[in-house]
Amino acid sequence: MKRVALLFVIAVLVPSLGLAWLAVRSLRDQQFVLERQQSLLYQSVADGLARETQEFLNEHLRSFGLEIERWLLRREPFDFARTLDQDLATNWPLAEVSFAVTTDGQLYSPGFSTRPEVRNFVATQSRFLGNQEAAEVYWNVGKQTLNAPVAQAFQQPADDPLNYGGNTRQMATQSGFPTKTPSVRNVLPQQSLDFKDTSWAQAADNRSRLNPSEAEFRQLIGDATEGTLARFVDNRLAVLFWYRSPRATNLIFGAQLSLPRLREALQELLDELKPGIRDDVCVALLDDTAKPAALSPADFQSSNWKRPFVATEIGEGLPHWEVAVYLLDPDKLSQAAQTLKLTLGLLISSLLVAIGVGSWLIVRDLNRQLTLARQKTDFVSNVSHELKTPLTSIRMFAELLAEERVPDRAKQRSYLHIITAETARLTRLINNVLDFARLERGEKKYNFQDCDVAEVLRETVETLRPHLEQNGFALECALPGEPCVVQADRDALAQVLVNLLSNAEKYSGEQKEIHVELRRHSSPLPFVEVNVQDRGLGVPRGCEEKIFEQFYRAHDSLSSGVQGSGLGLTLARQIAQAHGGDIACQPRDGGGSCFSLRLPVRSTPATGGGRTGMG
Ligand code: ADP
Repeated sequence: MKRVALLFVIAVLVPSLGLAWLAVRSLRDQQFVLERQQSLLYQSVADGLARETQEFLNEHLRSFGLEIERWLLRREPFDFARTLDQDLATNWPLAEVSFAVTTDGQLYSPGFSTRPEVRNFVATQSRFLGNQEAAEVYWNVGKQTLNAPVAQAFQQPADDPLNYGGNTRQMATQSGFPTKTPSVRNVLPQQSLDFKDTSWAQAADNRSRLNPSEAEFRQLIGDATEGTLARFVDNRLAVLFWYRSPRATNLIFGAQLSLPRLREALQELLDELKPGIRDDVCVALLDDTAKPAALSPADFQSSNWKRPFVATEIGEGLPHWEVAVYLLDPDKLSQAAQTLKLTLGLLISSLLVAIGVGSWLIVRDLNRQLTLARQKTDFVSNVSHELKTPLTSIRMFAELLAEERVPDRAKQRSYLHIITAETARLTRLINNVLDFARLERGEKKYNFQDCDVAEVLRETVETLRPHLEQNGFALECALPGEPCVVQADRDALAQVLVNLLSNAEKYSGEQKEIHVELRRHSSPLPFVEVNVQDRGLGVPRGCEEKIFEQFYRAHDSLSSGVQGSGLGLTLARQIAQAHGGDIACQPRDGGGSCFSLRLPVRSTPATGGGRTGMG
């Protein structure tokens, strides 16, 4: 038993509890896991949009070059350069101010203008474009010409015409320009903060991945043919496109982008976002002051634009601009995590309960099987003993009589009496065992017919009376005057009564009194009750039901000296139940026990309840 229990604990209980513990632990991380999944999803949305924005700029840089080429087909370069600002203003709407610089650093155009944008441009950019001062710039270059040291440093892969040679940090390091320390990002995405636990990591994570270079215009463009430059002048972002045509190698054409128009164009990009994404989040393009330059959905409002769920920097083309993603309903995530936690928690609890109940059932069944196995072993030894004892006395007295060693007639009669009684005991035992086997196999057949219980009881008592009285028992039997007819198998009924009387004899103790009575009851339904009462050892407390289980013995042979098979009451109850009745046991007032057999009266009940004392 111990081994089986140990095996059970090792093979089932410990792994189940281990798994349950792991599952409960993983429950605590559900919110984190969900947030992680969501952040990965929305981070990819933000990254994708940042790439698209960068590509959008590259496309426009290309279209700017084509526009310049178209003009140069029709006009002489210096002539076109002079009127460039007016010409492009109508044909290339993204340009706020267009300019042309000679390679030796002369700002050829725009000239004098009343337009405030032009005047501001000349005031802020002419010294940088004229190579008279170095500025802090974020830059990208496009197609390269050969033999240029800067150009070689960031040669682009041939199969990707839109890849503008990597980011500023990489290029600046390679080209040897002095670089500035990257500044801190304007926005602090919740997700980047929540996943790190040290303040250093938080600070590191919030640093911009772009570092500006300190250089003059001429140095930056090298021998490249096109590129973008972005710089902050008086905290205002200026994005410049520039292009060098093979038709005019000594001139560089460029344009400063109109940020309002750029915003409008970028809003169109956002409007193309998949509707599924817009249902849960707002995607915003934040400018360098962390204000939304474009939004989808357009009516979204945030109390703190600087704390999006996730965000990505767009790149050198638009430094300090970010694609930021905000959750439309931040509570939805924790609600979903809560629901998931609850569902999983319930699932784990029900699994644990199922394992617990299953284990309990297995252990209970195991115990029952073990008890049964033990009882069967006891049964075999008990029955063998019960067979051996009467056989020994039968043999001994039969031998004495056969050898005529007992001349006294009275003794001879007494010996013959013992032989008969022992044979009856053997028959009873064998009948019980055979009947039990039949019942177990479901082969026991009953011959139900109208049967007077009073008569069966009288006959049984009278059969056993001589034997009992000879052994010193006072047997009293109280029967009603009228017949008590029930539907019953007469022999089976007699067997029940014999078993009860034989038990009253076996477990009698010092006070050898047996009282048998038959009563009729009419409520709730009519039934007859046979009570067999003794003044014997009594049934130990708590065993009143167990004694009806097969092989169960409340008084074992060793301590009580009473032999038995543990089948008599099992059979008696099964027969009673087959008749629609039952047997119960109660302690008797004044000591001993009372076994009551109850049988329903199905035939017309006889009236009257007079009792006749017998014995
Ligand atoms: P057994 O062959 O052991 O008598 P039974 O099924 O007839 O088997 O009885 C089961 C057990 O019930 C007995 O072993 C005994 O402990 C208890 N028992 C039965 N009848 C009595 C009784 N009249 N008084 C006390 N104990 C009894």
